[in-house]
Amino acid sequence: MKKKKPTAEHDVIIVGGGLAGLTLTALLATHDVKVLCIDRDAPDTQLKTAFDGRTTAVSYGSRKVLEAAGIWSGMAHNSCPISTIHIQDGDSPVLLEFNSSEVDDRTFGWIAENRLMRRAMFERVSALKTATHIAPAKILDFSRDEDKVTVHLEDGQAFSAPLVVGADGRGSFTREWMGIATRGWSYNQRAIVCTATHTNPHKNTAVENFRPEGPFAILPLTDDPKSGAHRSSIVWTEHKPEKDSAIHYDQDVFDAALNARFPDFYGNVHQIEKRFSYPLSLIHAHNYIAPRMALVADAAHGIHPIAGQGLNLGFRDIAALSTLVTSAVQKGYDPGGPTLLQNYQRQRRFDNMAMAGTCDGFVKLFSNNIAPVRIARRAGLRAVSRLPFAKRFFMKQAMGSAGILPDLIREKEAA
Ligand SMILES: Cc1cc2nc3c(=O)[nH]c(=O)nc-3n(C[C@H](O)[C@H](O)[C@H](O)COP(=O)(O)OP(=O)(O)OC[C@H]3O[C@@H](n4cnc5c(N)ncnc54)[C@H](O)[C@@H]3O)c2cc1C
Repeated sequence: MKKKKPTAEHDVIIVGGGLAGLTLTALLATHDVKVLCIDRDAPDTQLKTAFDGRTTAVSYGSRKVLEAAGIWSGMAHNSCPISTIHIQDGDSPVLLEFNSSEVDDRTFGWIAENRLMRRAMFERVSALKTATHIAPAKILDFSRDEDKVTVHLEDGQAFSAPLVVGADGRGSFTREWMGIATRGWSYNQRAIVCTATHTNPHKNTAVENFRPEGPFAILPLTDDPKSGAHRSSIVWTEHKPEKDSAIHYDQDVFDAALNARFPDFYGNVHQIEKRFSYPLSLIHAHNYIAPRMALVADAAHGIHPIAGQGLNLGFRDIAALSTLVTSAVQKGYDPGGPTLLQNYQRQRRFDNMAMAGTCDGFVKLFSNNIAPVRIARRAGLRAVSRLPFAKRFFMKQAMGSAGILPDLIREKEAA
């Protein structure tokens, strides 16, 4: 028999208010679930341009989650649709082109600046009556009894709920406290992320150029709201010692390298603002759950950005967990019970592991320059371009419409 919901001030406490934690907070509170979200960094810090230079390729499925959470309307105008994807291999011409006309003119996704996504999320969370956000706050410890988990903060405050969710990223303190080990490895690569302006419009094109040192991606952004300049975001993967990294190039050398890598139709390219560097690794938690606790997004799994799917997977976790928790709370049942948590883990583990494995395979296949591998790889890409069913398969992957979809995404997809 299902257990009744224990009496507590909050139904759910979310540790970590990054892109995943804030979305889960908004999604639950949209359905009147009482949620407390705690983050170590203040919103002002997280909204600074120097905090996170990344963009996210938001898939079609993830947009559904953001819509359901009431966040999408606050970020849609800053998100640039992708209508064409060019795949290149090193200095090859375009080997494979995906065009939205081949999928009923549906866009492949949207490139959104993480900072602007966060801003839309903070605005949404602060407008929701059953959501509370505390930041900055340092969590010292957790304690757990049969009915609840209590989160102890450094300032002496303590908050309890029948369910605590760890959305605190790859180095998750919550996961460590849950005693959950991880498996993974470093790719010995880093991604340099920055923004560039170019004289010609990008025509909503995303370019993925698989180079021996790692993928070089050009992602379309909306034009600069003040100057009107055409802009794209760059993810430049490299496999070099830190001291030789392109991040240290002076401006002229960096711009020259960009102009050599960008296709000619962009015109003259110039890097602006700060350059960021992210080490790349794979991490997967052995379990996503422990009594009255669960992990979502990067706290449970972090993958290589080669296919831009890391957060998109996190949004699927959020969709699955929020559906289960909302249903339990609305019916007066325990949102942190073992059956619910096992159900969550069962829904999400395989999909996440499959995507982690696929991306890992892509990294190994594309980040090398061994002649027979390169020849087979280029032949494979040309073959895909001539096989409509294979092309459709890859396009559905890019749109986030393949894999194991939680009900929230599948139902809306069908609508
Ligand atoms: C170069 C690069 C490009 C990427 N591009 C894409 C893409 O195009 N599409 C895509 O889907 N994914 C992409 N990703 C992956 C994506 O960025 C991550 O999956 C995403 O940021 C994970 O969000 P998160 O909220 O789970 O974790 P995080 O962003 O790490 O947020 C964790 C939050 O928890 C807080 N926190 C941590 N510890 C504590 C604590 N002890 N107490 C309280 N709070 C705490 C932090 O302050 C932070 O706010 C990319 C990743 C990289 C590196």
